[in-house]
Amino acid sequence: MILISACLAGVNCKYSGDNNYNEKVANLLKRGDAILVCPEQMGGLPTPRIGAEIRVVDGKRRVFMKDGTDVTEQFEKGAKEVLEIAKKVNATKAVLKSRSPSCGVGVIYDGTFTKTKIEGDGITTKLLRENGIEVISSDDFIEGKVNV
Ligand code: SF4
Repeated sequence: MILISACLAGVNCKYSGDNNYNEKVANLLKRGDAILVCPEQMGGLPTPRIGAEIRVVDGKRRVFMKDGTDVTEQFEKGAKEVLEIAKKVNATKAVLKSRSPSCGVGVIYDGTFTKTKIEGDGITTKLLRENGIEVISSDDFIEGKVNV
C-alpha cells in the first residue's frame, strides 16, 4: 500500500482551504493500492488554518504558525496517526507533498516565512522514514524522477 498526501488527490485539506491536485498522483488512487492521509487535519488542526513552518528551539524541532502559535503537539499527533494507519495497511511507500512542514521530503522552509528553503523532512515524513517507510517527494514523482 502507498500513502498519499490527501491534498494531492484534490481534498481541500490544505492550510488555505484549497488543495494541491495533481492528476498523476490522483491516478494512483485508481490502482486501488493507495490511501489518503492529511497529518495536519489528523492532528486536530482546523481547515483553513494559519500556515506553519519548522524552527529549531533549544536544539529541538518545533512547529509554529505564522502568528507564533506553537503547534508542535498537533503536528506530532498527526504524524503518529499517519504512522498507525501505515502499520495497519502495511504501507511500504508514501508520496507526500513537497516542502510541507508535515509532508515535505528532503526540503522544507526554514521557519522565517520568507519562502527560504533548507534541507530537512517534514514532521510526518521524518517519523515514517524512521519506521522504514520509503517517502517520495511529490515533485520527484510528478517529474518522473521516481516511480511507485
Ligand atoms: Fe497536504 Fe500534508 Fe498539508 Fe495535509 S498536511 S494539506 S496532506 S501537505
